[in-house]
Amino acid sequence: MDSRSLCPVDERADAPTVQRVTETPFRTVIEPFRIHSVEPLRMTTKAFRETKVREAAYNLFQLHADDVLIDLLTDSGTGAMSRDQWAAIQHGDESYAGSPSYFIFRDAVQELFPYQHIIPTHQGRAAERILFQCLGGPGTIIPSNTHFDTTRANVEATGAEAVDLVIEEGHDPAALHPFKGNMDTALLEQLLTERGSDIPCVMMTITNNSGGGQPVSLANLREVSEIAHRHGKPLFLDACRFAENAWFIREREAGQGERDVPDIVRDIAALADGMTMSAKKDPMGNIGGWLALNDNALAQQARNLLILTEGFPTYGGLAGRDLEALAQGLKEVVSHDFLRYRITSTAYVAEALDRVGMPCIKPAGGHAVYIDAKSLLPHIPPLHFPGQALAVALYEHGGIRSCEIGSAMFGRHPDGSESPAAMELVRLAIPRRTYTQSHMDYVIEVAERVMAIKDTLPGYRIVDEPPVLRHFTAAFEPIS
Ligand SMILES: *Cc1c(COP(=O)(O)O)cnc(C)c1O
Repeated sequence: MDSRSLCPVDERADAPTVQRVTETPFRTVIEPFRIHSVEPLRMTTKAFRETKVREAAYNLFQLHADDVLIDLLTDSGTGAMSRDQWAAIQHGDESYAGSPSYFIFRDAVQELFPYQHIIPTHQGRAAERILFQCLGGPGTIIPSNTHFDTTRANVEATGAEAVDLVIEEGHDPAALHPFKGNMDTALLEQLLTERGSDIPCVMMTITNNSGGGQPVSLANLREVSEIAHRHGKPLFLDACRFAENAWFIREREAGQGERDVPDIVRDIAALADGMTMSAKKDPMGNIGGWLALNDNALAQQARNLLILTEGFPTYGGLAGRDLEALAQGLKEVVSHDFLRYRITSTAYVAEALDRVGMPCIKPAGGHAVYIDAKSLLPHIPPLHFPGQALAVALYEHGGIRSCEIGSAMFGRHPDGSESPAAMELVRLAIPRRTYTQSHMDYVIEVAERVMAIKDTLPGYRIVDEPPVLRHFTAAFEPIS
């Protein structure tokens, strides 16, 4: 992976192995770990995969995971835990109430996000459900830069309206803006002025997952915080990829390049009044989440809802051992060595795909690469699902599982009508610490092979679908 665009080596966040001397960096950024326990990959043939994907009705969610060679469906819960996380699991205490594992978890969260109340949940959407059950409801509006789909669904489930206010550049795959996840603060100011009494809080998603894993700047967060608080509204972070976002701030924002990531994270936390969190992302867990906040009355209400469906407030639907693994993961994810490798390796894939002619959203996000299938496969109309066509081809040719984010996912509306989505994307999400550079070089070679036959790829039609969230279970067939 190429490091030419990166800062000189400076590892204050990684004490005690401090290396303060500025050295000439090497071009190759290596994986900052070696492999301790391995999982076999099952090699398969193209003929085998063609059979499997036909049996799965050309829906990659319906494949058995052991028929997949490189699984880039999601980065959620699919990361490799470290030696020290597995050791922490042995330290897990499964007491129903007051487990020491809870206090270890709480302290690790508060080290980065010093909120008063830390409430564990089984994953991020449970924290969202509880928060919006407290704050949402019919007639209310929740603005965000862009709501993630579970966040939007949990807002709407209470009868509230979810509004996305990302900046103009956030809608343009080719716009080279360093912080394409930023909120349009003029639109936020206007919404708060016109509808303030209907707005219980403001959300910010860092990084902006639905917008291509794009970061939010510290300056934008400051402005959003100032506007929200001037209108008397609390600001909540959807902070799933806070460490990747902080690294982008360090790399791209004026005056931030010499700072430690944990300090940047604490600055971000101080601008908000609380957070929802999926610990299956940056905290390096296979499961988990939390809701954190300062308001005592709101925390009391949230804990009461937690007890109804998640569990007692010192475990919230998790085992004690999970809480310990997350506490350790939080210490590892803010390492500069890890983040340099993480962000560089994602950009490496995006740049290589661009080189073989597959256009990607630019600049590359933190956790995933998004291929623009609409411009790649102009012979397939949007409602014949060019993203699905590319995703199926990547699986048939190389055993790579990706995720269509286009008209198969968003093209059908509640009234049963269909219209094309804004973009036809294929997302290659990169699990944390799971695949090596040669795995990614293989992905790039498969992409090259698919490029050679791209004009022959068929479109697809849906032959069976459920009324909502059809992409998970719909049956497709190729159009000959
Ligand atoms: C994954 C994710 C969620 C939901 O978290 P789960 O743990 O999957 O429930 C919410 N927001 C963002 C930005 C996410 O990426």
